[in-house]
Amino acid sequence: MNFFTILKDILAPKKCYSCKKEWHFLCRKCLDKIWYFHSICPVCKELTHDFEVHFYCKKETVFLDKVIILSHYQNKTIQKLIKDAKFYGRKDILEDISLYLWEKLFDHIEENTQDIILIPTPMYFWKKLKRWYNQSEILVKNMSKICQIDYNNSLVKKTRNTKAQSHLSKIERMENLQKAFSIDEKLIKKFTHKTFIIVDDVVSTGTTLNEISKLLKKYGVKKIYGLCIASD
Ligand SMILES: [Zn+2]
Ligand SMILES: [Zn+2]
Repeated sequence: MNFFTILKDILAPKKCYSCKKEWHFLCRKCLDKIWYFHSICPVCKELTHDFEVHFYCKKETVFLDKVIILSHYQNKTIQKLIKDAKFYGRKDILEDISLYLWEKLFDHIEENTQDIILIPTPMYFWKKLKRWYNQSEILVKNMSKICQIDYNNSLVKKTRNTKAQSHLSKIERMENLQKAFSIDEKLIKKFTHKTFIIVDDVVSTGTTLNEISKLLKKYGVKKIYGLCIASD
């Protein structure tokens, strides 16, 4: 913690969005109360071990091996936290959440830190320019700082702008994302032996994560997990 962080904490201390107590945007107590998300399969949404895709849910169109989720998006506190972090420049909220994401990740994987690589869900450059930052990138950078995990934010790029996914059907979402991502073909060769963790803020049907995974697997990556703050 540097001098400016300490000063900022004294002048404008972080307050829990839920109980209003100081030092975290969401304190441990509230975290345990409202963030708990059961370990479900991303395909059928039924209970599973460590968020894995069930053996019988693995189809040729499913490229993810698990999707680890921290909390429920229906929760109003979570919605406000994510909106402030994403649209109102509150990067400090993302820093706080990174710690919880990191803990959740290591509760549900068997890999060692040196065997994994974190990548953010990429944002189209124009969108990032308008928003100033990509929230997934900030999460990834902070997680990497906390526990010295490799991260790379140039392996996967978003090559065109796409419509917002939230109001589209599952098929429309898939069409919307077709050929929207590209991979650095040279760079990827260095990392194919690692387990990839794609980090995002909110996951709904998982179409974006699956589309990126499809590309990564085409280039030889064996295991890919999603890691998200919230899901509906
Ligand atoms: Zn609290
Ligand atoms: Zn399943």
